[in-house]
Amino acid sequence: MESLTDKTIQFVKGVGPKKFAVLSEHGLNTWYDLLHYYPRRYLDRTNVAQISSLQLDGEPVTVVGRITRKELFRGRRRRIYRLTLQDDTGDMTLVFFNNLRYFEAAFKEGDFVAATGKPTQYRGWSFTHPTLEKINLRDEETGEGSDFEGRLIPLYPGTEKLHRAYLDSRGIFRIVSRILDESGGSYPDCFAPCFLKEHDLVSYADALEWIHRPPAVEQLKQARYRLKFNEFFFLELMLALRKYHVKVVEKGIRFKDGGDLRQQLLASLPFKLTADQEQVTAEILDDMRSEQPMNRLLEGDVGSGKTLVAVLALLLAVENGYQCALMVPTEILAEQHYRSIMSFVEQLPVNVILLTGGQNNRLRQQRQYELASGNADIIIGTHALFQQAVTFRNLGLVVIDEQHRFGVLQRGLLRDKGVRPDTLVMSATPIPRTLALSVYGDLDISLIKELPPGRLPISTVWRYDNKLPEIMPFIREHVERGEQAYIVYPLVEDSEKLNLRAATRSRDELAEQWFQGIEVGLIHGRLKTEEKDAIMQRFAAGEIQVLVSTTVVEVGVDNPNATIMAVIHAERFGLSQLHQLRGRVGRGARKSYCILVAGAELTEEGQYRLKAMIDYPDGFRIAEADMKLRGSGDFFGTRQHGLPTLRIADLIADSAIMFRTRDIAFQLVQDDPRLLNHPLIRDYYLRFYADRFNLIED
Ligand code: ADP
Ligand code: MG
Repeated sequence: MESLTDKTIQFVKGVGPKKFAVLSEHGLNTWYDLLHYYPRRYLDRTNVAQISSLQLDGEPVTVVGRITRKELFRGRRRRIYRLTLQDDTGDMTLVFFNNLRYFEAAFKEGDFVAATGKPTQYRGWSFTHPTLEKINLRDEETGEGSDFEGRLIPLYPGTEKLHRAYLDSRGIFRIVSRILDESGGSYPDCFAPCFLKEHDLVSYADALEWIHRPPAVEQLKQARYRLKFNEFFFLELMLALRKYHVKVVEKGIRFKDGGDLRQQLLASLPFKLTADQEQVTAEILDDMRSEQPMNRLLEGDVGSGKTLVAVLALLLAVENGYQCALMVPTEILAEQHYRSIMSFVEQLPVNVILLTGGQNNRLRQQRQYELASGNADIIIGTHALFQQAVTFRNLGLVVIDEQHRFGVLQRGLLRDKGVRPDTLVMSATPIPRTLALSVYGDLDISLIKELPPGRLPISTVWRYDNKLPEIMPFIREHVERGEQAYIVYPLVEDSEKLNLRAATRSRDELAEQWFQGIEVGLIHGRLKTEEKDAIMQRFAAGEIQVLVSTTVVEVGVDNPNATIMAVIHAERFGLSQLHQLRGRVGRGARKSYCILVAGAELTEEGQYRLKAMIDYPDGFRIAEADMKLRGSGDFFGTRQHGLPTLRIADLIADSAIMFRTRDIAFQLVQDDPRLLNHPLIRDYYLRFYADRFNLIED
């Protein structure tokens, strides 16, 4: 049978060249693609309320009807968008205060929509900010004998472009329906019948049929379970295979004990390691001394002192005559790390060098020479480190900071430059342990829970931007006492030029209006490395008192004298970004503040984020809140990480299924690492995952 992934939808009845082009733009090209374009939710026809029978009981209900009127008008304080929705029994209004432009573009008179909300009464029935889905059912088609036979009507995710090409939910459904009919349910299953039976799974064919055309809720549940199981199973299988390879197949470096450099460093510090730092350092050094390659994740909130732990590991490798690489996501962070590591090892016979993309050619070549000749012990750099010109004499340890920003593939790439170097990845975006297990499931995990002693809690507040006339003098007051402040602006446009202009203008205005006589610096993405470096150095030295920036200060910058982090248009930042920013202050002995300044048009989600920042001081709770908000898939940016995309499974909501598949997959790999007794699973893996990690074939 021709494979689903090879079969184009171009010739499916009703598609045509125009629709095909639009579908293709959305990554929907083959039968496989469409069959795996799952409905986002289902409209349960038996739960649809009629407008005449709405009640004020506070329960959310769904009303299906036609939009008969669209009005945009100015209320007393803000603009309001109002739609009139009509069904067979009457009409009601839908009211929106936010995202007006979206609604203006997305809905027009005559559209058929499903609106879900809590009924309120004010001059008739109304919903405020209902979820609104365009379904474009015709009146007669909500009844029996229409496209939708069951009581559950699938609602597919859409975009404006799809809608304009008549590919709204119903349009998509029709195409999917044809594919389901034409293929007659003959989809090869990646699980053998006994496997299905053992794990209580319905067949792949049933799952696909029922996810799109559920005869009833029970079948829908089974279909969803099967498809989630599939996604998790192959993710876990991939991790199991990787872990197996790293642990069993590959042999790593067995570092010898040593410890002189480490002792010297510890003796020179003005503080003692925290108990957590001691613990994780022991775990890491144990790994390094064993023959199995280290593959460890070091998790700890911003400012928990991971860098020092990393340095202790680096020193062991250096003592053993190996080179080490520390890789970080941004140049600023590379420079920052370079400085702080230099300050740790200043007195030690260790040669540390910095390599970034922003350095001029001559300098870079010289650095590369030092590296290749073995003259450099520790190299710190950005992704420029991956470039082919970079060779190591004997790379023994790779440390990767802010792991969540790198792809798994990149990690492998750098590792391939050494023999079998040990790998330590560090993350300041604290990932709940259970999730870390699933996503970085091939890694061992060390955790720093406590911050170094003496840190004062950061006081976090949020204000609307009409309060700037109070906020700026507050900042000024602190600066006049010798403290320093960050003022961060979001990127406003896609264009860097415009951003630059906006940031420059903001700096000038601030300096003029609020900070006369105070040194206000500006840092942004377009500056050259040396320029950024110079500015950061002046900020670190206290010559710049207020640093205006776009998000380049996001990660890892360390200036203990900075006590205020003001984020303008804070609602435009993601939660973990905000938390990272907040982590730039509160590093010294003085009380620190994080001031989140919101623009006037704050969405519900924006409010949730700002509130979470105030409610949760620690990164773990923030990460959880963030995942709740964004869905775990987006949180991890799985695609950019080279991990398989989760289309239907959710790492948080479906963690029980994830753990189950994890046990099954890891057991399977332990019993049968080449999957020889599981040819169907093996074939499926090789087909869909082997390009990422082909660990079975060699
Ligand atoms: P992270 O990389 O985890 O965000 P850093 O390594 O930047 O954290 O540490 C933040 C600051 O805390 C640094 O200035 C570092 O020197 C300091 N620090 C690290 N360990 C300790 C400790 N045990 N006691 C006091 N200060 C520490
Ligand atoms: Mg750090």
